[in-house]
Amino acid sequence: MPAFRGSRPQGYSSLSEFDYDLFVIGAGSGGVRASRIAASLGASVAIAEERYFGGTCVNVGCVPKKLFSYAAHFKDSFEDSAGFGWETGAISFDWAKLKSNKDSEINRLNEIYKSILDNNGVTIYQDRARVAGPHTIAVADQQLSARYILIAVGGWPWTPDYPGCEHAVSSNEVFALDALPESIAVVGGGYIAVEFASIFAGLGRDTTLIYRGEKLLRGFDEDVRDLITAEMGHKTELKLQDDVSKIVKYDRGLEVSLNSGYEFECDLLLAATGRRPLTDDLGLETVAVELDDWGAIKVNADYQTREPSIYAVGDVIDRVALTPVALAEGQLVARQLFGQNPQGLSYENIPTAVFCHPNVATCGLTESEVQQRGFDYDVFLSTFKPLKHTLSGREERSLIKLIVDKASDRVIGAHIVADDAGELMQGIAVAMNAGVTKSQFDNTIGIHPTLAEEFVTMREAR
Ligand code: FAD
Ligand code: NDP
Repeated sequence: MPAFRGSRPQGYSSLSEFDYDLFVIGAGSGGVRASRIAASLGASVAIAEERYFGGTCVNVGCVPKKLFSYAAHFKDSFEDSAGFGWETGAISFDWAKLKSNKDSEINRLNEIYKSILDNNGVTIYQDRARVAGPHTIAVADQQLSARYILIAVGGWPWTPDYPGCEHAVSSNEVFALDALPESIAVVGGGYIAVEFASIFAGLGRDTTLIYRGEKLLRGFDEDVRDLITAEMGHKTELKLQDDVSKIVKYDRGLEVSLNSGYEFECDLLLAATGRRPLTDDLGLETVAVELDDWGAIKVNADYQTREPSIYAVGDVIDRVALTPVALAEGQLVARQLFGQNPQGLSYENIPTAVFCHPNVATCGLTESEVQQRGFDYDVFLSTFKPLKHTLSGREERSLIKLIVDKASDRVIGAHIVADDAGELMQGIAVAMNAGVTKSQFDNTIGIHPTLAEEFVTMREAR
């Protein structure tokens, strides 16, 4: 067991009382960050991981998804190049090569995550862990004790229960497919559904996107939803206000029936209908930890559960299911527990991007939220055909929108639909967190010719 390597916080009881100061369950984004920070502050830390180091983001989430998204963009680039004088000849795509290259990169990242833990003296248990009491963890056939337990077990794809739902795959399986079939249906209208529908369409597959709502990406700004729904409609067969009622598997593929009565055949159906916190069979009945109806762990502002020695961060608390948020929460808990007094985490102005094609990125409030909160506001909106597409001939449009609080002139909402929207939004998010005003945008010189210069040239409120 590693020795205690730092000064313990005041009131900290003797290490001999417990095997570890902190036991973390789950080596994903939140768990690895919390372990590393706690260990660097002198705590003796152990972590249990039953599946893969780096968790969802590294193995079946952000990273492999973004690699697939890059792959999918090339088809558009090949097509667009003709207007710029290129002749590309016949093109072909090799899924096996993409998957194998992706797997190598993920294996490399797994090792990096494991070394982060090793190098910080964190004891690793490569096994499933369960809570067995306020200070007790069961791992394999051992019972271990810890002053604090941090639950960072993440979530798992969830599929509604309809006849034949066992024939649907989740995003987890998509990353491991040996072959990418010709026709693919995607169910859902959230992040994963629009990202994967874009990937499949970009990789040249016949893609049908089925969503029960009127517009994709519920919760995003309505102008963004209008544009992205239209753009996805150009790339996929879009079935809105409809849902799967039945899937039947035949030798040749799947027959999918929708509530509307529409039926079609496809080779693969991806259910991207949300993720549930992984709290089943975690031993939580042995402690006072409380769950909500969706299975998420309830925590207070310090990420402490109803059991005072047990904390939880990341997707398992179902607040904002994004990697940077899990990282920030894990770091905060470690600092709070082991001797520092960090500032709390603000959930205002968390930027996020959806890597559909074109990308969506957002920071701050949507126009509906601004209305609900009673702001007197102005909207600056520009929808346009990007310069690149004047020659490519592509009809894709972009959108830039700022929402400004009239009283303070502060920018309280920023929304982008464009290639690389996430790259653009990161800088805007820094400015918004620093309280940027619309006048400060206006007083900034643009970079010409870019799409982003729209941010500093919009003068007329809608
Ligand atoms: P996880 O990363 O899920 O880690 C939990 C870990 O705990 C896992 O490794 C699991 O194996 C382990 N575990 C679970 N139970 C036990 C147990 N009992 N014992 C031992 N180990 C256990 N976010 C972004 O910010 N940007 C993106 O582009 C993005 N893309 C995504 C794409 C997809 C397809 C998906 C599914 C998610 C994406 N996300 C993205 C969300 C992001 O991956 C999660 O928010 C993030 O991984 C949550 O981190 P976490 O630490 O809470 O959980
Ligand atoms: P989301 O919550 O984003 O979307 C789930 C979708 O499934 C919604 O469109 C929802 O519809 C629909 N749905 C839910 N229940 C049913 C049902 N019974 N029948 C039909 N449709 C249903 O979840 P995802 O799985 O896409 O992603 C999970 C989370 O992971 C995201 O919320 C995000 O936080 C994170 N993520 C982040 C990414 C990024 O940062 N780029 C990428 C991927 C994931 P409705 O809207 O009507 O409720």
